Amino acid sequence: MLAHHLHYAYFWTMEKQIPLYFDHAATTPLDPEVQAVMADCMRDVYGNPSSLHAMGREARVVVESSRRTIARALNVSPDSVFFTSGGTEANNSILWGCFHDLKRSVFITAATEHPAVLATLEDIKQKEGIQLHFVRLNNLGLVDMDHLEALLESHPEAVVSLMHANNETGNLIQARGVSSLCRQYGALFHSDTVQTIGKFRMDMEMLDMDFAVGSAHKFYGPKGVGFMVMRSHEKFSAFVKGGGQERKMRGGTENVYGIAGMAKALQMCQETMDADLQQVEGLRETFIRLIEKVLPGVEFNGSHQKQCLPHILNITLPGGVDKEMLLPRMDMAGFCVSTGSACASGSNRGSHVLRALGVSEDAAALRISFGRSNTKAQVEALVSALVNLYPN
Ligand code: PLP
Repeated sequence: MLAHHLHYAYFWTMEKQIPLYFDHAATTPLDPEVQAVMADCMRDVYGNPSSLHAMGREARVVVESSRRTIARALNVSPDSVFFTSGGTEANNSILWGCFHDLKRSVFITAATEHPAVLATLEDIKQKEGIQLHFVRLNNLGLVDMDHLEALLESHPEAVVSLMHANNETGNLIQARGVSSLCRQYGALFHSDTVQTIGKFRMDMEMLDMDFAVGSAHKFYGPKGVGFMVMRSHEKFSAFVKGGGQERKMRGGTENVYGIAGMAKALQMCQETMDADLQQVEGLRETFIRLIEKVLPGVEFNGSHQKQCLPHILNITLPGGVDKEMLLPRMDMAGFCVSTGSACASGSNRGSHVLRALGVSEDAAALRISFGRSNTKAQVEALVSALVNLYPN
């Protein structure tokens, strides 16, 4: 019997207790090899990449070789990659650029997008009066492709902004299908690919997205650094104004050691991708099998059987658990899990994603996201802890 199988999830070290981490969709731990690259770079490569002297040139080499590494991983040309402070800034830059510079005034998105897209589009709408259309979703939260086509028929010059994988449910879009519809009608396709870069082989040529974004801290790299990919030949004026860095696309001195760490992290993900995927698929299968056995009333939110990212599971626990106490109790038991996206937590408004899927506000919903360091024993401990939430 799994229940009460493991009382303590904590790993004990000499200094502190380390909880078991099942929140990889919020962020991932920094890989030690990435940390080593960054530490070397921080110590040795302190020139400003825009300086023309030897130290500046050395920093420039780090930035440009990182760009090439990232471009190679995504099968795009290096001049399509622009460094930013992360996924949020990259989404803001692209969406504002589509409005300001590419003169697009109709945007099609979904109610389940990340706030980095939704809040930006609402902001452009409020300030500039763009038309904003929401594509219909089915009861699993998957995009209704017929409705998307109908919207494109009426608005062929739209910008379609649909995230590749949802950060709360793991739902995937049919990226190839969306891009071919966009091509057919002449729309632009932007995808928030923050949750998939580093997890799948992302061949941008094949996926045919016009714009995509990445964030290093989601793939075992540092926080506060990311990039945008712009395959379109038309360039934007900078969203962050400044000294003309990033070929005038993003002002501000480049985060040299963050960029070096991000490139190393992505390169490592490319190398271990198949094994990583196999591992999380195994963990997820184990979790589903065990939780269905010990908590038969458990429900899965989103499309958890197909068209989904194996790293993320969103569940609603059967009745009898105090929703408000769910996270604190799991935290006290030594587990890092979450109830929505990390960005929305603290806002006390519940999850807009689950709302869009018709999940009740009162549901005790939990997001579990797996990563490299998780083991089968940890998954068993997690299931036991969930069972222990219920009175005997
Ligand atoms: N988009 C998605 C889908 C995310 O999950 C996140 C991170 O939570 C972001 C954008 C924001 O990325 P960043 O934390 O780099 O700003």
